[in-house]
Amino acid sequence: MKRRIRTTNGWLLALFAAASIAASPPRRDNALEAALLAHITVLASDDYGGREPGTEGETKTLRYLAHQWFDIGLESGTNDPAHEWFAPVTLVARVPASSSAAFTRKGRRLYVPADAQLVLTSGERALVENAPVLFVGKGAGAVPARADMAGRVALILDGGIDNSIRQNALLAGGASAVLTVLDGDRTLEQVSARRRRLGYALASDATGGDLDAFVTGAAFDRILTGMGQSVAGLRRAAAAADFVPHPIDLAVSLEATTRATTIKTHNLIGRLPGRRPETGAVLLVAHWDHFGTCAQPPAEHTICNGAVDNASGVAVLTEIARRLSRVPQMDRDVIFLATTGEELGLLGAQAFTDNPPLPLTQIVAAFNIDTVAINPAGTPLGVVGQGRTTLDAGIAAVARAQRRQILQSDAPNAYLRRQDGWALLQHDIPAVMISSAYGNMTRLEAYMDKDYHRPSDQVKPGLELGGAAEDTVFHVALVRWFADSRKVPLPRK
Ligand SMILES: [Zn+2]
Repeated sequence: MKRRIRTTNGWLLALFAAASIAASPPRRDNALEAALLAHITVLASDDYGGREPGTEGETKTLRYLAHQWFDIGLESGTNDPAHEWFAPVTLVARVPASSSAAFTRKGRRLYVPADAQLVLTSGERALVENAPVLFVGKGAGAVPARADMAGRVALILDGGIDNSIRQNALLAGGASAVLTVLDGDRTLEQVSARRRRLGYALASDATGGDLDAFVTGAAFDRILTGMGQSVAGLRRAAAAADFVPHPIDLAVSLEATTRATTIKTHNLIGRLPGRRPETGAVLLVAHWDHFGTCAQPPAEHTICNGAVDNASGVAVLTEIARRLSRVPQMDRDVIFLATTGEELGLLGAQAFTDNPPLPLTQIVAAFNIDTVAINPAGTPLGVVGQGRTTLDAGIAAVARAQRRQILQSDAPNAYLRRQDGWALLQHDIPAVMISSAYGNMTRLEAYMDKDYHRPSDQVKPGLELGGAAEDTVFHVALVRWFADSRKVPLPRK
């Protein structure tokens, strides 16, 4: 009984709190919105060429940001006298060079046209010869036992982009290669275009010898017809409740090679020194990079300017720095990290954790800022990473003090793996992304459908900065909380 009453009271209090927040109209900070717009207008101008790593656009972007940060009063945060401000990151881009798949049955070669097959590797060269084929069903499902999988090529029916998770699981489970039959809505061209974007890695990372092969449904159907089978038959078998992986009477040889180019790029790292740096640091992150030119003529505008993604994030990061530089000195250092290579697979954030300017265990909290110019002022805050770190209680306390509502929903976590915070979480750094952009998924999804990673993500009338300005103010309060060693002690590790 007691508990129930307490629950009711709590519920009523929450209702009152929500009502009082809703009743106060959002206060617009016009000067702050203008400052954000000024940064975004420069960074997303055609002159910056879409901020592609290793290009003149990178030089301009980093020169602009470093100049701003220096004027604000930040110090270099690289902790490397040989590379002040700009931490070098070397990327390797691997472009497919050759691809071949040869199918045989009882020693007889079965013809598959070259334009109906594609073999890819993330390494320099990968090869399997005359491997037996094991049909493992659709994209989803368990991985067969290693003894059944080892030395075989796993054959799967395509289930869209999410197939990559199963492909990786099958390779990890002992498969020599994964052969995907594209019988759904993806074409070989789409697979190849997507892979081109994913073909980047840090130069310091060993490249794997994984092998991913693709064949069109029509070509594979012709092979199966000669065996009295069909792709439709495979699909029916895979859909059956009692489906078990089984061998197909085929052997396949696969080979892929790649050509590598090296890209020299940089993370920008600044620091606002604390009074007691031995108590740790707070890390703020926003990626500066984007795609450069991303459309082909006859399109009139071919540059992906990335106004929202992520000129808006580095603009917010810069204005947070300005405001924090004016508050009484905090206990902890605040590290400002503008990452490269986010769009190529969170590579700049990964480089930061590989070669950090401070022990990673010293980072008390990390806040990533990505794609924030979405929602108007007065939107609740969404937390990407809610429930995944020890930061939630502190975030809630700051939100109460700031009279901000936090969206209680798992929806923002759909973006968890798609942002730099994910690379930090892999190293147990408590990292979240808090923004009004993730507090109302309707406008965010509309942006994703219309402008995301397209030349239309540019400065244009209606660019909404109300939420981004409120995000700036909220992060100032958030950093002051987490940089206070009495409020948030350094956890023992
Ligand atoms: Zn992006």
